[in-house]
Amino acid sequence: MKKLQGISASPGLVMGPIYRLRHGIAGLTRVVELPIHEQALFDAAVILAKDEILQMEEKNDGPQRDILMFQRVMLEDYSLLEQIKECIAQGMGAARAVEHVGKEYAAMIEAIDDEYLSQRSIDVLDVCRRVVKILDGESRMPPQIEHPSILVSDRIYPSDLIGIDKSKILGIATSAGSVQSHAAIMARIMGIPSIIQLGADILNCDDRQFIILDAYHAQVTLNPNEQAIEQAQMHMVHQDRSRNLLLGLKHQPCITKDGTSVTLFANCSSAQDVRQAIELGADGVGLLRSEFLIAGDHVPGEEEQYLHYRQCLSVAEGKPITVCTFDIGEDRKLEGLDDPIHYSALGLRGIRFQLAHPNLFLNQIRALLRAAVYGNLRVIFPLITSPADWEEALELVDLAKRQLRQEGVPFCDEVPIGAMIEVPSAALLADEILGNRCDFVNIGTNDLIQYTYAADRQDSRMSSYFTGWPRAVSRLIDMVVQAARYYKIPVYACGVNASDPDTAERYIRQGVTGLSLESGCLMQIKAHLLDVDLVPRS
Ligand code: PEP
Ligand code: MG
Repeated sequence: MKKLQGISASPGLVMGPIYRLRHGIAGLTRVVELPIHEQALFDAAVILAKDEILQMEEKNDGPQRDILMFQRVMLEDYSLLEQIKECIAQGMGAARAVEHVGKEYAAMIEAIDDEYLSQRSIDVLDVCRRVVKILDGESRMPPQIEHPSILVSDRIYPSDLIGIDKSKILGIATSAGSVQSHAAIMARIMGIPSIIQLGADILNCDDRQFIILDAYHAQVTLNPNEQAIEQAQMHMVHQDRSRNLLLGLKHQPCITKDGTSVTLFANCSSAQDVRQAIELGADGVGLLRSEFLIAGDHVPGEEEQYLHYRQCLSVAEGKPITVCTFDIGEDRKLEGLDDPIHYSALGLRGIRFQLAHPNLFLNQIRALLRAAVYGNLRVIFPLITSPADWEEALELVDLAKRQLRQEGVPFCDEVPIGAMIEVPSAALLADEILGNRCDFVNIGTNDLIQYTYAADRQDSRMSSYFTGWPRAVSRLIDMVVQAARYYKIPVYACGVNASDPDTAERYIRQGVTGLSLESGCLMQIKAHLLDVDLVPRS
């Protein structure tokens, strides 16, 4: 028996046989033709690869579709294609040229000091792998795994998870990889227990070798003895039981012991997320991040957005959906602007970006007002910093309404509009913002902590500010709660730290009326709050 320690990328405990996912080595028997022929082969392979990806896009939704779209767009990247062309012209075979340039390109992206971009390097490798396989005449069919198994590899590519039958993946164990990688994000969404960075030893395991993967403790046990298997079995029974118990709470309203009702919304990014959140018992969606509709420089137009919001409403079973307008900024950039801007956390972000690009904002508002005819839709503006930008945003909503009315386009005139309070200035002036046609507020503690403590939310060395109970932020929340009480409007907390049961309880004790969380933890928070008594008894 041997234990390997890694980093947990998605929680859970499973045991089962290994399925070694091998990503192959460079073809050894390639025949290199004349450069002109190699270039023609490469061009044909790119067309085929784009076509394959497009077909997969049509069958997928949400983050999977975005990843595939990004990969397809990569195959149109001028600089990547030119570098490959140059290598081919110098006599390198097409497949070798793609491998060579793909690796260099991915390394260059990975080195960029930008979390979003560096995560995308794996997509470059993934899409180049597809082109190489076409050139080498290898199958792009996903592996056919017969029995449910734990996937073991150096790293998992997004296309591995998109292709394989989900019911056959018990867990994932990799020697390398990153928690922020797309494959890790997908594993979390799919609820597949995963451990990364286990080191090279995990790659020496044989196919079908039996292991225990404990992603709660980021540990893999090789050749477990009977006692370890028994213990794991017990944990799994316990895990299933608590999962079922929590799911049993799905239809129970979240009311604390003293009778305070708490709304439990979900944070979502796609229609697929919304469907999953409703299935898991969310009261609705408290934050639908819309900027994930933007892929590179493709900003969906009014019509595309309208259809998307309608699709989200159609899966929400009449429950409220709160769409946050595009929060474009340093960590969620919009490429290809006519007038490129310098992105910075303290620059054009959230509502400021939108007010600087009123047509983009108007398009989104029009799409939202039109979609709202078909369900319970609410709109919220990100990063409101002052009563002035709140007022300016409201005026643009009025303008969108006037335009639609003049054009005779049906829309909902009564869409509730709320403000994201996520910078200290907005909390300090909450009374003025909330007093001006504000129907509800979301306190975004990810940003409120970042801007209160001057602690970059993307810098892992700052993580201590984002856990536990940040006292300075608590004082700002008090101001927002008081203003919300005065104007009798609901106030929600929607940052990541509210997923912790104790922190969630503190928010409710402080007067927050609801929470908006990742859907996977909603029932756990409900179970905790059901047991809380907010009235101290003597
Ligand atoms: C927040 O800032 O807390 C929040 C929920 O918004 P986002 O994470 O999208 O910035
Ligand atoms: Mg925010």
